[in-house]
Amino acid sequence: MKVSFAHMGNTYIALAGALKILGAEFIIPPYTTKKTLNLGSKHSPEVICLPYKLVLGNYLEAIEAGADGILMIDSPGTCRLGQYSQSSRVAIRDIGYDVEFINLDLYKGKVFELYQGFRKATGNANPIDLVRAINIALIKIDMLDVLDESYSYYRARESKKGSAKKAHSRALKFLDDAMTVNECKAALKNGLEILSNVSVDPGREILHIDLTGEIFVVIDQFSNMDIADELGRMGVQVHRKIKLSNWTNTFIKPTLTKFEDTHEGQMKTLARDFIKRDVGGDALESIGDTISAGNNKSDGVIHLLPFTCMPEIISQNILHNVTREKDIPVLSLILDEFSGKAGFITRLEAFVDLAQRRKNLRTKTKIRS
Ligand code: SF4
Repeated sequence: MKVSFAHMGNTYIALAGALKILGAEFIIPPYTTKKTLNLGSKHSPEVICLPYKLVLGNYLEAIEAGADGILMIDSPGTCRLGQYSQSSRVAIRDIGYDVEFINLDLYKGKVFELYQGFRKATGNANPIDLVRAINIALIKIDMLDVLDESYSYYRARESKKGSAKKAHSRALKFLDDAMTVNECKAALKNGLEILSNVSVDPGREILHIDLTGEIFVVIDQFSNMDIADELGRMGVQVHRKIKLSNWTNTFIKPTLTKFEDTHEGQMKTLARDFIKRDVGGDALESIGDTISAGNNKSDGVIHLLPFTCMPEIISQNILHNVTREKDIPVLSLILDEFSGKAGFITRLEAFVDLAQRRKNLRTKTKIRS
């Protein structure tokens, strides 16, 4: 079986790493483009959320490229993620493709579900290989987030436009090639070193903006129209608060390996003053992240949500109260296949301008007092 999976930002590096260790034949779908989105949208219910359309588009492009097995994340959750695997399976069958579906219900089975899923997808039943593969995937997910943080720092300060992006791409390549824990560690070290060699403008005034919202659109560059790069270009250091490593640390890693409260746990506790129950998706984390940004005097928060995302529509409404009580500016951006880049950039520029003026005002008030 030639297995494939969805891109979801740079997550494919972790999955590909695991499949390589298991000696599987796999296909990385072509990078997500407008064509992927059009393909996914064409075979999706009109009002389903954007991530579904992109994931389905990735699967279809992978099948066209020769994949005959699809690894899918399944969930019993309270939002539409619970329907993703069932609906995409029906859509793919309706088109006429005969492929194998391997469901990973990670919320239910955690590491065991990954173990079974990889075994089925690759035909490799060697427990040592399977444990190594899962370990490498989890390590790479953690490292991708470490590299992203460093990239964000240098991107906002780089003196030559594009140099941080180039360094980050090289760092990703090192990590993609690594096959063992030691190689991953060396790849991370080399990657961070390359990023630290990016020449920076020491005098540049930097704004700090937190990025939160629905996990797929926060980490997937195509669906969020490269928001982090665009903000970096405006001299903003982006702090991505919703990360895949937070999710794997909460839901996948065995409880015994967790020595401190996870990001998800901390944000849920903070959000309790504004919402009493979990409404699914990443809504509680979006609220908690915004409260935390207010407490930490961040310069602002950008909240990303896919059009028709039920949990984030709830959090978007609650964020008005958080803004008022915590004195933190929030820009909620709704993303769908009709979002245009020009209007998107204009809104970002206006928000950055507002955050900058607010920061200047705060500094002046502080100096006076
Ligand atoms: S969190 Fe929102 S966008 Fe994500 S799967 Fe659920 S409903 Fe869709």
